[in-house]
Amino acid sequence: DRGAIEADAVIVGAGPVGLFQVFELGLLDIRAHVIDSLAAVGGQCMELYPDKPIYDIPAAPVLTGRELTDNLLRQIAPFEPVFHLGQEVTTLQRRADRRFDVETSSGTRFIAKTVIIAAGVGAFQPRKLKVAGIERFEGSQLFYRVKHPARFHGRQLVICGGGDSALDWALDFVGKAESVVLVHRSDSFRAAPASIARMKALCEAQQMQFIPGQVTGFDVRGGRLSEVKVAGPDGVTRRVPADSVMAFFGLLPMLGPIVDWGLDMEMRQLRVRDTGKFETSEAGIFAVGDINTYPGKKKLILSGFHEAALAAFGAAAYVFPDKKVHMLYTTTSPKIHKLLGVE
Ligand code: FAD
Repeated sequence: DRGAIEADAVIVGAGPVGLFQVFELGLLDIRAHVIDSLAAVGGQCMELYPDKPIYDIPAAPVLTGRELTDNLLRQIAPFEPVFHLGQEVTTLQRRADRRFDVETSSGTRFIAKTVIIAAGVGAFQPRKLKVAGIERFEGSQLFYRVKHPARFHGRQLVICGGGDSALDWALDFVGKAESVVLVHRSDSFRAAPASIARMKALCEAQQMQFIPGQVTGFDVRGGRLSEVKVAGPDGVTRRVPADSVMAFFGLLPMLGPIVDWGLDMEMRQLRVRDTGKFETSEAGIFAVGDINTYPGKKKLILSGFHEAALAAFGAAAYVFPDKKVHMLYTTTSPKIHKLLGVE
C-alpha cells in the first residue's frame, strides 16, 4: 500500500456529472479525487462542443459547453477536488478491508472507501494513424498530443489532420521548427476560418507547406523514422523528410478497462440496482451520468446532476458508516455555509 493515496471518494471521469458529483459529496463533507484520461476537465462538453449553446440546464437559459464547465469548476472550488488528469483508470478492485484499490495508467494508486464512476461514453482516446509498423515510434517520433512544445523546436515536423488542433499546432510551430508540413486528405478543412487563411498565407510565403494526401508509409534510417510517404489524390506518392510526426484526427470514446471490473453491464453501460442510490452491482461503487442505465434513463446533463445528488447520499453510508446523514438546505444550513466558506 506504500505510495497509495488514501481517499474517502474517487470519481472516475471529470465530465459535467463527475464535476457536479464533487459538489454533492462536498455538501455531505466528503472530499474527492477526480481522475480523467483527458488533459482537461469537462468531458463531452469541452471535447465535443465547447462553443455550442446548451439550452436545457435549469435556471441557465443558455450557456456553452465551456461556460458550463467553468461554472461547475467555480461551484466546486470550495471543496478543493484533487484532479489527476491525463491518466486513465485501469484497475478497480475490492480489497480485503472492503475498500477499493484504484490504479491509473500513469501508476497513480488510491485506496478508496467508495468509488463513483462518471465515465460517460468512455475514455477519449486519440484516433491513431493507420500505417503498419509506425506505432513503434509513438512517444519518440510519433505524437497524438503535444505536451512539451519546445521539444519540437528545430525539428522537421509533419502534422497530419484538418481540424483546429492540426492547424493551431502547425501555425504555432512555424518559425520555431526547422520545417512544418501539413498533410490532410483534401483541401477542405474543419477549422476556424482565420486559421485556414493564415495557414494559406504562410504556405504562399513559403514558411510552411501543405500537401494534400494521406501518410501511407515511412522510411527508417539508423533505427529512426526519417521520412514519410504521402499518397496524394493525384495518384503521386511524395516523400517528405520528417523527424517528428504529429497526428490530430480527433478523439474516439473507448469504454476501455471499465468492462473488466466485473460490474453488471447492459449495452455498454453500467446497470444500477435502483434509482434511489445509483449503486452498481458492487456495493460501494456508484455510476452516474451517461455511463449508467436504468429503466427510463435519459442521457442528459440534468439527469446526471440528479443522479449525483442521490449517489452522494449512497456513498456517504460507506464514508461515515456510523453516522446518519441528513439532507440540509444550502440556503439555510450553517453547517453547509461553513463547508462552502460563505459564513
Ligand atoms: P462525459 O461528458 O462523457 O465525461 C466522461 C469523462 O470520463 C470523459 O472526460 C472521459 O475521458 C472520462 N473517462 C471515461 N472513462 C475513464 C477512465 N477509465 N479513466 C479516466 N477517465 C475516464 N446534454 C444535455 O443535457 N443538453 C444538451 O443540449 C446536450 N447537447 C449535446 C451536444 C452534443 C454535440 C453532444 C455530443 C452531447 C450533448 N449532450 C447534451 C449530452 C451531454 O454532453 C452528456 O449527457 C454529458 O456530457 C454526460 O456527462 P458525463 O459527465 O456523464 O460524461
